[in-house]
Amino acid sequence: MLARKLGVPHISTGDMLRDRIRSGAEVGTAVAAKMQAGSLVADAVVNRMVEERLSEPDAASGFILDGYPRTIEQAGHLAGWLGERRIREVVIHLAVDYNIIIARLTGRRVCPLCGTLYNIASKPPKVEGLCDRDGSRLAIRDDDRESVIRERLEEYGEQTRPVLDYFRAHGHSVVEVDGSSAPPEEVFGTICQLMGSHDRS
Ligand code: AMP
Repeated sequence: MLARKLGVPHISTGDMLRDRIRSGAEVGTAVAAKMQAGSLVADAVVNRMVEERLSEPDAASGFILDGYPRTIEQAGHLAGWLGERRIREVVIHLAVDYNIIIARLTGRRVCPLCGTLYNIASKPPKVEGLCDRDGSRLAIRDDDRESVIRERLEEYGEQTRPVLDYFRAHGHSVVEVDGSSAPPEEVFGTICQLMGSHDRS
């Protein structure tokens, strides 16, 4: 929603890594194994992938990074890259209760063809198990099994939560939004409002 509003690309490192796996580019590498286990992929791999993507023409007037940076090392790398180019950024922290995250992820379904996301509880498809747009059979992400979700949350606590403190300590703008209960449209409205007041400050 934010990418559409701002007219900039939505760059998700998770989507990019899954594309690489689907295309066969990661056969036998540590990337697929790490993702399946719910662990983080090596910083050097992700940093290089993001740098290449940000150098593409469609990212020249802005971008939304989703799922990156996830470690202090990635945050430092990104801050250096942005600083050299004098690009100003806003960090959006969506805070969601762990139990709600687990419920949302176990209910998540994805269309393997067009990527549309559904949730069996809050956003079910019109016909059970099939994509509204193209009729493909919906899939469950490999890492949306509960045991793997718990591993991902553990990685988050150990490696990603400290990134927020890093951003705050280094004077970056951080917008805090509660993403636990309100519907996506409302959360989006709050983000836009906070980013607007941030722009004016
Ligand atoms: P996501 O789609 O953002 O939930 O990411 C799915 C998985 O991809 C994560 O559990 C990691 O294994 C890997 N991944 C995505 N982004 C990163 C990142 N910035 N650093 C390391 N691993 C990542």
